[in-house]
Amino acid sequence: MAKATITAPTDAPETVAETAFRAGHVFDELGMAHDPNNLYLQTIDAVLSAAEILEVPHHLQIILAQPKNEIMVHFPVRMNDGSYTLCKGYRVQHNNALGPYKGGIRYHPDVTLDDVKALAALMTMKCSLVRVPFGGGKGGVKIDPRVLAGDELMRVTRRFVAAIAAHIGPDHDIPAPDVGTNAQVMAWFADTYQNIAGIKDRHDSVRVVTGKPIEMGGSVGREKATGQGLVDVVAEILPAEGLPLEGLRFSTLGYGNVGSWAARLMCERGAKLVATMDHTGAIFNDKGMDAELLAEHCVETGGVAGFGSTAAGHTKTGAHTQAGAEAISEEEFYKTKVDLFIPAALEQMIDQERAGWIDCKYYAEGANAPTTPTGERVLIKNGVEILPAILCNAGGVTVSYLEWVQNKQNVSWDIERVDSTLNKHMVLAARRTQLAKHRYEVDMRTAAYIASLDQISKVYAMRGIFP
Ligand code: GLU
Repeated sequence: MAKATITAPTDAPETVAETAFRAGHVFDELGMAHDPNNLYLQTIDAVLSAAEILEVPHHLQIILAQPKNEIMVHFPVRMNDGSYTLCKGYRVQHNNALGPYKGGIRYHPDVTLDDVKALAALMTMKCSLVRVPFGGGKGGVKIDPRVLAGDELMRVTRRFVAAIAAHIGPDHDIPAPDVGTNAQVMAWFADTYQNIAGIKDRHDSVRVVTGKPIEMGGSVGREKATGQGLVDVVAEILPAEGLPLEGLRFSTLGYGNVGSWAARLMCERGAKLVATMDHTGAIFNDKGMDAELLAEHCVETGGVAGFGSTAAGHTKTGAHTQAGAEAISEEEFYKTKVDLFIPAALEQMIDQERAGWIDCKYYAEGANAPTTPTGERVLIKNGVEILPAILCNAGGVTVSYLEWVQNKQNVSWDIERVDSTLNKHMVLAARRTQLAKHRYEVDMRTAAYIASLDQISKVYAMRGIFP
């Protein structure tokens, strides 16, 4: 059996007509290339296609087609063996018409400027859709955090903060966790910034970053927020379309923060996690797995592989315990029939081939931009309803906003207040998207962009263009 791992996408362009950008004229005007596999171009193309439908003025389309600022830094870090590594870091500030730039910091060996640009643009759209008063930004460092020892990770973080400190700030640009970073990284981030900040700003400078540990001003509910926001959206849309969460069968691609929290919260509502896959392998249990135990297994072993293989009662003939699961291949994972498929790993994972394997009714994007344009066409052709990332994964930034508000007021909310406020933002964003879908007769992704652009274009119309 082929070992199942998360591998690079294999999309090959179909025909010129199918891969041509709908916003190609804007790309030409701005001197941008036409590479159909480029995530940034794919993202902006989808945004501008929605902008055309909404009749967003041309000058606003070209503003949104490029980020306001692209900051690229190189900084040396001393490793534990005494050697030095030169790290490459990015902070992209896409748009701040609605408020300070906002978005996570990613640590990953494959981070590129164009990926960060795409993710920053998605943050602009996401914040506008859920109506939190932030713009969009994103950052990254091109390193593999898994191979770094704890204090190496700390030194990378501190040097990165020092390198970008002049460009961020509690009311200007507010980073947060993303792939490869967590609350501990945010703690180092806040501490470093606080040490660098001028004496007058020091007391308030912890607001420069969200997703902090609770003891350092983080919010309760932030860690699970992205997964919870996804479940809030799914709970708003699916039962109303005749698919209750109780007994619903789902699978997740990825079992990190977003995938595992989405799975745990779906299971709390009676849904069944029947398959999941990450970089260590793919597993399956037709009766449903214990999402909580699986999350513990991942913390202990680093991934989903091997879950339940030693659990009491598990047999190779398929008589699994609730905790158990059997290993399956990558292809078997994608072909597992489910009601809901949740891609919650990296971007561009679901290409044409994998989209063709997926057997589901609903597809809720937990990761940012997990679906290539050709993958999306296949899913739509197969009748799959795509609930787009800027809607489904906006819960993280929404609770980041709540954290920032609590920090500003020096208060701590209880979990009920955080959860219910998050729920209101998510439900309203889902309804806004559905309204746009019906009004403009478009797919959910285009609808989400339209609902988001509606707010941004109104604000631009009021502000006008300086001077
Ligand atoms: N990195 C998360 C995202 O992509 C959260 C960003 C934030 O909280 O600012 O939405």
